[in-house]
Amino acid sequence: MKKIIDLHCDTISFIAENWGSLRTNSAHFDLVRAGQTGICLQFFALFTPPDDSNAVLRRILKMVQKYHQEMSLNRDLVYPLLEFNDMLTAENQDKIGCLLHLEGAEALGHDVELLQVLYLLGLRSIGLTWNYRNMMADGVSEGNADGGLSSKGRQLLDEMSRLGVILDLAHLGERSYYDALEHYNKPLIVSHANAAGLYPHRRNLSDDQLAVLQQNGGIVGVTAVKDFIGEKDGIEGLIDHIVYISDLIGCQHVALGSDFDGADNMVLKGVEEYQNLDKQLGKRGFKPGEIENILWGNAVRILKTIL
Ligand SMILES: [Zn+2]
Repeated sequence: MKKIIDLHCDTISFIAENWGSLRTNSAHFDLVRAGQTGICLQFFALFTPPDDSNAVLRRILKMVQKYHQEMSLNRDLVYPLLEFNDMLTAENQDKIGCLLHLEGAEALGHDVELLQVLYLLGLRSIGLTWNYRNMMADGVSEGNADGGLSSKGRQLLDEMSRLGVILDLAHLGERSYYDALEHYNKPLIVSHANAAGLYPHRRNLSDDQLAVLQQNGGIVGVTAVKDFIGEKDGIEGLIDHIVYISDLIGCQHVALGSDFDGADNMVLKGVEEYQNLDKQLGKRGFKPGEIENILWGNAVRILKTIL
């Protein structure tokens, strides 16, 4: 059976607010459907709209509690991915690995040392910002006012590199994006974005941003959010972006980052629509080895390097 890694969903945040269950629900993603469709690793974002950093930290900690509660309730289906070897352990082979991600570093405030606390709670990936400015960097909504990576931001990157926490540049403003790529010396991810050259949207990456990502050895997770895809509906719209980015920088830099339960208007109804993605990529000219890398192998390369 094919294996799929998805770099971004908001399902933990969504069910924490709606009293839902991770095992089965009527949202975009649940464990039962994900298992059937071939998901072997899912990144789970902790997200709360920017606010005073103490208020944000409190909400994020409650979501961490929800995440761990779901991990223990569904121990027969999932395992938390804390180090790369967890993926190779025999008893985990038929389960879905879960990787805890923080979307926006607001919860840290000024305190880079809080990263170590979150690391102890299982956090293994951080996106520096959501759409706005915080102590670390500036989000895409700052536009021309984007001041780039702050000195705190550089400290945070050094600490992430030291601990083995994945760096995610989704949502960053352009200057912050280039600054982070210049400062950080390991391969990174852009967990959920598409190609601006195919469909212009401030959250999509320009050809130049993609070229710099190629230099870094990083990956971009194409997203199923309709606003970032363009006119075409359904999975073909998503595949158009996979084709475009592959032609530009090579398919070894492409992965999946659906944003399930993070947006209302998606070109996929839910995780079950990943079902035939391998066959559909084959129809578009990708070879079996390339398909395996897009769905799984490229993300594994990053996990192996960082965790
Ligand atoms: Zn997002």
